[in-house]
Amino acid sequence: MELLVKNGLLYIGNGFIKKDLLCRDNLIAEISENILRENYIDAENLVLSPGFVDLHTHLREPGFPYKETISTGTAAAIAGGFTTVCSMPNLNPVPDSAENLAEQQRIIDKDAHCQVLPFMSITEGRNGVHVTSPAAGCVGVSDDGCGVQSEEVMARAMKQAAARGILISAHCEDESLVREGGLVHDGVLAQNGLVGINSESEYLQLQRDLRLVEKYRCRYHVCHVSTKEAVEVIKKAKASGLPVSCEVTPHHALLCEDDVVRDDGCFKMAPPLRSFEDKKALIGALLDGTADAIATDHAPHAAFEKNRGLKGSAMGVVGLECAFAALYTDLVKTDIMPFKRLLFLLTFGPSNVIKLPCGLEVGNKANMTLVDPNAAWTVDSSKFFSKGRSTPFDKKKVVGKVVSTIFEGREVYHV
Ligand SMILES: [Zn+2]
Repeated sequence: MELLVKNGLLYIGNGFIKKDLLCRDNLIAEISENILRENYIDAENLVLSPGFVDLHTHLREPGFPYKETISTGTAAAIAGGFTTVCSMPNLNPVPDSAENLAEQQRIIDKDAHCQVLPFMSITEGRNGVHVTSPAAGCVGVSDDGCGVQSEEVMARAMKQAAARGILISAHCEDESLVREGGLVHDGVLAQNGLVGINSESEYLQLQRDLRLVEKYRCRYHVCHVSTKEAVEVIKKAKASGLPVSCEVTPHHALLCEDDVVRDDGCFKMAPPLRSFEDKKALIGALLDGTADAIATDHAPHAAFEKNRGLKGSAMGVVGLECAFAALYTDLVKTDIMPFKRLLFLLTFGPSNVIKLPCGLEVGNKANMTLVDPNAAWTVDSSKFFSKGRSTPFDKKKVVGKVVSTIFEGREVYHV
């Protein structure tokens, strides 16, 4: 089977070139000028990028299909231009054994609309006590949702990860530093009666982990970096040659505590929206390479879990379907970030972290995203494919739209 994309501006290497691209079966077969076929996708005035890769997606299945399923979550992924998502392990059963991972994999094989690479947990049941034995087929290990509190346990996990070449993806949060009921940044909002989550809870555990990485030299990735102190710590670790990478979410890069303008669960996530200074540092990290990737931390919940205001709602917001447009609007249209840098952070950046081949090159998998950088639209979460609807970007007027997603040579989504 063939599929031709004609007249598109291709994001290749370090820039854009106008070429035609032909897929045959599931691969990119030819990139040149003036490829002729009877049927084609006309990409005039559109940009063709490698498919976006999300290092941090909560698909909620098995265990919580009322929040999201692998089918609905990956439908949201392709609508957002993502052709690969890494699923997080806060599931039931937790993928902490080959057997439990296989149960999740069976649903992926049956229902996924794009590539799903599952994380196993670092510890059994994500309880922070017994280190798991990662099975073939997992993209790495993570106890996302909480930090590994015991240094000794993290040391054992890193020793094993180093020996077996496994990626550890860490949600850094020292629970001994978080007060009961913590739900916003420990800044201006916390002065108004809401319980704050301090920045130390993130960067002190990160510093502990980096001391261990120095000793064990495992590949170590930091989830959803949110504080300016963490950015500095990671910058130093990278400069000293440690095998460290990190991600920033769209909400932490584009919003801060000042944007929490009403008592709404759509502003509640972990880590919380931090200060304006933190946001500035995160954008700096995305620009200077301290941050390797943008990851959505798509974390869907049912409406009844998110409509209870800041205090009563569950932690987490959805992100797959509006990530590109929100980022393009607030970073690229404002000249803060070059377009090619944004695309890098959604494609090559995350692919490098998980050693996934990436790029519009003959012989590579035909996973691609076609975007219209001029399309103006308004985010409407009621139209999302995801079961989760809570996002701080709902009703946002945006420019830039994913108009077609091609997965393994087939157009799986188009507007
Ligand atoms: Zn997390």
